Amino acid sequence: MTPPPILRTLADLRGKTRSWHDAHETIGVVPTMGALHDGHLSLVQAAKDRCDRVIVTIFVNPKQFNNAQDLANYPRTEQDDARKLARFGVDALYVPDPDQVYPSGFATTVSVAGLTDVMDGIHRPGHFDGVATVCTKLFTQTTATDAFFGEKDFQQLQVVTRLARDLDLQITIHGCPTIRDIDGLALSSRNLLLSDRARTLAPRLFEEMETVASGLNAGQPFGELQRAAIDRLEKTGFTKVEYLDLRAADDLHLLDAPTRPARLFAAAWLAGVRLIDNIAV
Ligand code: AMP
Repeated sequence: MTPPPILRTLADLRGKTRSWHDAHETIGVVPTMGALHDGHLSLVQAAKDRCDRVIVTIFVNPKQFNNAQDLANYPRTEQDDARKLARFGVDALYVPDPDQVYPSGFATTVSVAGLTDVMDGIHRPGHFDGVATVCTKLFTQTTATDAFFGEKDFQQLQVVTRLARDLDLQITIHGCPTIRDIDGLALSSRNLLLSDRARTLAPRLFEEMETVASGLNAGQPFGELQRAAIDRLEKTGFTKVEYLDLRAADDLHLLDAPTRPARLFAAAWLAGVRLIDNIAV
């Protein structure tokens, strides 16, 4: 199959979606920041399985970066990305010019309270406002009926689900499982920034999370498991573990035991790269 047509303006996008709506077709959107890997492609497949039409978006959203260097370093591989999408029969690749998303004078922020008061909401100030604002824009611009997000960014998935519900957006948000490399490392565009040595150490994060999860299943106290795992990660070469939390899957409240559906969440720095992961417990 051929790579999808790349659309860079809202007018071009609307030119496509209008006829799809007229034909009562469902439209799935997969929002991404590019540097596509098999995790993204699993969302594309989920969208293809459910929807008549599929739009993939690539937009490295400046509003969700709280660190200018991180934004500058973010990998950009548009031509490769378009090639990777060819086999899926995606209907459009929307790569908006920044002024198509944030035109001059843009003054609106979408902000979700509560869910964003913890974890990445604290460690990346402003990040979720950026995510919520851009997702709202992309949902309205694409007029999608369905949107597909990875559980890899579980807090983001909860934030987007909340905003769609709160704002009565006529879109169904679908969460899709985390895709991992063979050694357990969750796929992430930022993995491209890891040195060879850091890449060999990175799977330790998931390994330690699994160790904590099996300790919990065996009834061991979370606090002890958490301290030991953080200690081992820091000895391995992780420079900072920002959090290793046990939280309720729905409202993200802290738990000290998995007494209701729970997840273990982690964020840690390795060789200048921030890795995040989460697993169900
Ligand atoms: P990003 O390009 O990092 O903003 O991610 C775009 C979408 O892909 C988000 O919904 C992510 O949660 C999802 N995603 C990223 N990595 C993975 C993965 N390893 N498995 C499944 N989904 C992922």
